[in-house]
Amino acid sequence: MGLTIALNRGRILKECLPLLARAGIEPTENPDDSRKLIFESRSGGHRLVVMRGSDVPTYVEYGAADVGITGKDTIMEYGRGTHFYERLDLGIGRCRLMTAAPAESDLARGLDARRPLRVATKFVNVTRQYFESKGRQVTIIPLSGAMEIAPLMNLSDCIVDIVDTGNTLKANGLVALETIAEISSRVIVNRAAMKTRFAEVQALVATLGADADG
Ligand code: AMP
Repeated sequence: MGLTIALNRGRILKECLPLLARAGIEPTENPDDSRKLIFESRSGGHRLVVMRGSDVPTYVEYGAADVGITGKDTIMEYGRGTHFYERLDLGIGRCRLMTAAPAESDLARGLDARRPLRVATKFVNVTRQYFESKGRQVTIIPLSGAMEIAPLMNLSDCIVDIVDTGNTLKANGLVALETIAEISSRVIVNRAAMKTRFAEVQALVATLGADADG
């Protein structure tokens, strides 16, 4: 039997499908054009399961998937998995996890800002750890999307979000301030699968790794 591989739907999926294809793993139909979520591979008997990025570490942690591909941001937010290893940086899906605030705000102008700072984000754990490490008191306001609206609606003073080109921030009158982490897509492997599926996992990681370096 092949491996069960959990994949982050959306742009990471788009970018990792060609890498998987070069490793000989191709779904029988294009996940981008399908409403199906589980795909068999044409050869090798692998199974590709497409899901929200934040669910990928969960599937791999509990062994429902042997391998997962998702962004470092979702892995950091999940926290230290006790049952998976991060094995490879694929170098795709590059972006930054950053703080951002309205361009005209005291915070963006480097002036002393309100304490505790109100921070809207979906990266609640990473944000808490980041400000704790800086000794900065914050109130975290959890949101599930469209964080950039929060400061405009006076729900928060700033946000913590993914920034790629910066266009989304700019379009909403925000500026990026501090980089919390450089993000890219990673391959994680369930600890038990690492032992019981050693050969298949090693072959996959080696092929994807050769690709990432090249
Ligand atoms: P941008 O306008 O190019 O800075 O893109 C920012 C928006 O796109 C953010 O709201 C993110 O949610 C999303 N985004 C950009 N790059 C990535 C990535 N590599 N992984 C996940 N989300 C991303």
